[in-house]
Amino acid sequence: MSAAPSTAPLLDVRNVEKTFPGVRALTGVSFDVRAGEVHALLGENGAGKSTLIKIVSGVYQPDAGEILIDGRATRFASPEDAKRAGVATIYQELLLFPELTVAENIFLGHAPRAGGGRIDWRVMRAKAEALLASLEINDLAADQIVGALSVGHRQRVEILRALSHDARILIMDEPTAALTEGDVTRLFDIVGRLKARGVGIVYISHRLDELFEIADRVTVLRDGAYVGSRQVADTNAAELVQMMVGRRIENLFPKFAVPIGGPVLEARGLVCHPMTKDVSLTVRAGEIVGLAGLVGSGRSELAQVLFGITPAEHGDIQLAGKAVQIDSPERARARGIAYVPEDRGVQGLVRPMSVLHNFSLAALGALSRLGFIDRAAERRMAEAGVQRFSVKTSSVDEVAGRLSGGNQQKIVLGKWLANNPKLLILDEPTRGIDVGAKAEIHRLMCELAGEGVAILMISSELPEVLGMSDRVLVMREGRLVAEFDREHATSEAVGAAMMGSDATMERASQ
Ligand code: ADP
Ligand code: MG
Repeated sequence: MSAAPSTAPLLDVRNVEKTFPGVRALTGVSFDVRAGEVHALLGENGAGKSTLIKIVSGVYQPDAGEILIDGRATRFASPEDAKRAGVATIYQELLLFPELTVAENIFLGHAPRAGGGRIDWRVMRAKAEALLASLEINDLAADQIVGALSVGHRQRVEILRALSHDARILIMDEPTAALTEGDVTRLFDIVGRLKARGVGIVYISHRLDELFEIADRVTVLRDGAYVGSRQVADTNAAELVQMMVGRRIENLFPKFAVPIGGPVLEARGLVCHPMTKDVSLTVRAGEIVGLAGLVGSGRSELAQVLFGITPAEHGDIQLAGKAVQIDSPERARARGIAYVPEDRGVQGLVRPMSVLHNFSLAALGALSRLGFIDRAAERRMAEAGVQRFSVKTSSVDEVAGRLSGGNQQKIVLGKWLANNPKLLILDEPTRGIDVGAKAEIHRLMCELAGEGVAILMISSELPEVLGMSDRVLVMREGRLVAEFDREHATSEAVGAAMMGSDATMERASQ
């Protein structure tokens, strides 16, 4: 149910901008919340959600843009200002005093006073009980010590604290992240009651199933920018995932089927604190396995475990059926693993060096005889590389950093392939490069697969994952949570698994 649209929204955020040193955290973001509405904010890690709500709750000041409360432009110089205007925020880290009671926590800083200015404990207790009763919370008492309560109960105390300030706008940043299932149900029940009272709720969550359950509207942010808003009833998981990750479905992938051989990589129970939690996977010769997941789900960390940059603390790795220790990148390389990291500037390409030297760097072992580098062989190899990967450069002596992103990426790939790897790990192989270079990299991947290379490809572009993979693995919060073969890997199914929602799959297909 939504409120009459003719009245001004409770909260109206217009074109808000915020820059931190070196980071444009928000660029022109707008959204509004009406009385009795739950408006969800959705976006990958770093999209700007927390920054936005910190602006709305007076923690940060925007560099530009406006905040209107009941249609009137407002400036919050502090969180106290925001509170006075009826905006209450419940952060992930609950800010309660464990040694105080429920009632004391609720009324801390604004306790009812008796004559003479002393705290009126009797009234305070009665008010706390009235608040508890108003939300039909009957498993919590006003005089319980907060330190002994569960996370779910403590969160209810925070909500009551917000209501004690007559909050009309309640902001919750990932409120279910630390809750048990039972507590999530209780929270949703409370959210329903607050809506019925006309409170406007801003709800941040990664989880699509929750959003479909309790939100009326959703606004998607990406890289600090406003992507769009939808009525929840008019959208589905696939559309929201696409808005979050920001790529349109193009199905022009030159994927061709090649025979798939035996396992090249078999990893079992890999653990590496804090992002890799009991991961098992297999990649076979000739197979392209796509690793999907949201930013922050632990995909790059897994690649770094497999390449020995941060070796696994537990678990086993077999390469071509033999148990191996991958405890350093040197060891990984020697075992036939190649890894093209996400940021080619930092880990892949030496920008100031020539194309020639970039190509030869990874193959120095093969090029040196008795400690001398065979210059002619070096040049021949680089020229062959330029040809094979269609690197567009005037000559192999050109400085690598002057080439386009796509051509730089081809050189990085070429460097790694010089060692004839058995397993190629690619992290975002085509991010930020033009369509033509993209297609060439995809073609190259297919060629390599055809030669029997096992490829593990991390990509945030769902169409790329779906288009290029024989099999799709989905990672979420450090674990592999789903696996799809090529026929069953639809954007709805993979998107729902990325977001942690199975409920939405039915919804999306209705
Ligand atoms: P989200 O909550 O959607 O994960 P955030 O709002 O926390 O995103 O972050 C948005 C961007 O702003 C990120 O790039 C983050 O690193 C940056 N950022 C957030 N807070 C600060 C800060 N206090 N100083 C500098 N950069 C920040
Ligand atoms: Mg956040």
